[in-house]
Amino acid sequence: SFSPTPSKSNTTGYTLPSNISPEDPVRACYVVLVRNQELNGLLSSMRQLEDTFNRKFNYPYVFLNDDEFTPEFIEMTSAATKSEVKYGKLDSQMWGYPSFINQTLAAENREAMAATGIPYGGSESYRHMCRFQSGYFFRHPLLDEYDYYWRVEPDVDFSCQVDYDVFKYMRNHGKKYGFTIAFREFMGTIPSLWDTVRNFKRDYPEVADNLPARQDTLFKFITDDNGNTYNGCHFWTNFEIASLDLWRSNDYLKLFSYLDRSGGFFYERWGDAPVHSIAATLMLRKDEFHFFNDIGYRHSAYTHCPVEPEFRDRCSCNPDTNFGK
Ligand code: GDP
Ligand code: MN
Repeated sequence: SFSPTPSKSNTTGYTLPSNISPEDPVRACYVVLVRNQELNGLLSSMRQLEDTFNRKFNYPYVFLNDDEFTPEFIEMTSAATKSEVKYGKLDSQMWGYPSFINQTLAAENREAMAATGIPYGGSESYRHMCRFQSGYFFRHPLLDEYDYYWRVEPDVDFSCQVDYDVFKYMRNHGKKYGFTIAFREFMGTIPSLWDTVRNFKRDYPEVADNLPARQDTLFKFITDDNGNTYNGCHFWTNFEIASLDLWRSNDYLKLFSYLDRSGGFFYERWGDAPVHSIAATLMLRKDEFHFFNDIGYRHSAYTHCPVEPEFRDRCSCNPDTNFGK
């Protein structure tokens, strides 16, 4: 697009719009969907996030829950940071069954999936969670004032000191989606997801025609057969540093609504990770993704720990545990 005055460029070749200066503050927050009973695990995550990053930058936290937060939860989490803290409850649109879902069928399918041993195959709340993380968190009113977010979960580790502002990095380099770990999905959770995405592109040519050219995207990350099937590769969404505008875009809102109406969040068990990853891959150019190699991160049994020698004095993780080693 046309910019009337000279703009600042940087090493990636991205040009910051001329009305933004690299030091301008970024409207960003942590977004934490969490249950009251996960308080201790969350405090552990927060202490590490504060120690490695946030004590230096003081970004606010937005805590979200389908239930009311307890006074103890609010007291303990607000004592764990000097930053601003906000607490929100989800309404039945963001966490609940849309009217077009056949709940009997959903329950039957959960039972069948539970019998296969797929993780969370029988869980109803997990499906609400994945649908919320796919289609609603960025529309919660407490997030209205922000442009970027960092998703944080209970019981994760942050193990490297990060001394620069990651949100400014994202904004100043034109990055829209940052990750630390990529993974393969259990395909039994998403039998019809890819075909539904393909049908969406067929039914919404005005969106499909607007997408960047395939060769400029990470299309080859998500398919091994030129788009015939999805290979299950996805960014692990329990960690995300990303642009809220990505999800608030009309293209994504149309895609989400189409996916939602097909029922796969409830009749199958579509995760927000494959949904975000497929959508971001279709909608973003390669250079809008960022691998945060310098953020040591552990969730459950999987760790990202930078292995390069220059990180050893900044990280407490063991590089032998790095995922993919
Ligand atoms: P996993 O990472 O796929 O094993 O799933 P988690 O159990 O960690 O859930 C993902 C995120 O959603 C975590 O931040 C949880 O705290 C949160 N979460 C999951 N289920 C619920 C729920 O029923 N209510 C609320 N409020 N948060 C939930
Ligand atoms: Mn988790």
